[in-house]
Amino acid sequence: MPELPEVETVRGGLAPVLEGHRLARVEARRPDLRFPLPDNFVQVLTGATVTRLSRRAKYLLASLDREDTLVMHLGMSGRFEIARPEAAGAEGAMRPGQFAYAAAPDPKHAHIVFETEAGAKVTYYDPRRFGYMALLNAATLSLHPWFAGLGPEPLSDAFDAAHLKAAFAGRKQGAKTLLLDQRIVAGLGNIYVCEALNRARISPFKPAGRISKPRLQTLVAEIRAVLTEAIAAGGSTLRDYAQADGGLGYFQHRFRTYDREGESCLNAGCKGVIGRRVQAGRSTFYCPVCQK
Ligand SMILES: [Zn+2]
Repeated sequence: MPELPEVETVRGGLAPVLEGHRLARVEARRPDLRFPLPDNFVQVLTGATVTRLSRRAKYLLASLDREDTLVMHLGMSGRFEIARPEAAGAEGAMRPGQFAYAAAPDPKHAHIVFETEAGAKVTYYDPRRFGYMALLNAATLSLHPWFAGLGPEPLSDAFDAAHLKAAFAGRKQGAKTLLLDQRIVAGLGNIYVCEALNRARISPFKPAGRISKPRLQTLVAEIRAVLTEAIAAGGSTLRDYAQADGGLGYFQHRFRTYDREGESCLNAGCKGVIGRRVQAGRSTFYCPVCQK
């Protein structure tokens, strides 16, 4: 499932072909993804110019020269493929910013196609169709149920130790459970929370209200660091197509805890072994020795 860094990577990959570009042709090959597409989906988008492509939590927001904003969520398996006219040049020659698939995506999962006036073709594939798209009024977007209760972006200035201290005050649940609560911080998922807690050496099970402010400061710094590193890795995957593992939005990381049960903890000076425990229905990977 794409997490915040993957969505940000997709945003970075799509922005050059969509931002400032007019959608000359829009095709919806089926009436629904996870939810029905709005009846006027194609009509509103055809001829619209994408003024800005941004991200909020795990949503991609294409602002338009229209009243509505195109909101896109990749779900579990959504991905975009970009084809540009110049890609038809030298056989197999890829240029920076182009994207290669290890295996060509199955055309029967190509659900939405956007073609810009400049000739770029952006195709949305989603085999499982947990992704969704909607047109939401731009002026009231932040009041929509998908966005109304969201906490701050983890890479924004609003996300700091004081914010976590207030959000965690008196809470007995583990820090990990609360960091996955989108009302406390937006867009964090299981993998990056496990990574950040390991790097900050904080137990995922420690009652959140009992974590000191200096340790929360460390935690905030590590959350920012793991996300920033992953976004940078995603960006480099986009630049170096040879490392792409299957297209825009999905890339392999080496994680320090995630999926490393039974392997050595990588924190300096720690001889612990990564354990796994199911917490609130999700696998938590952690080091029982250095994470207190
Ligand atoms: Zn350790």
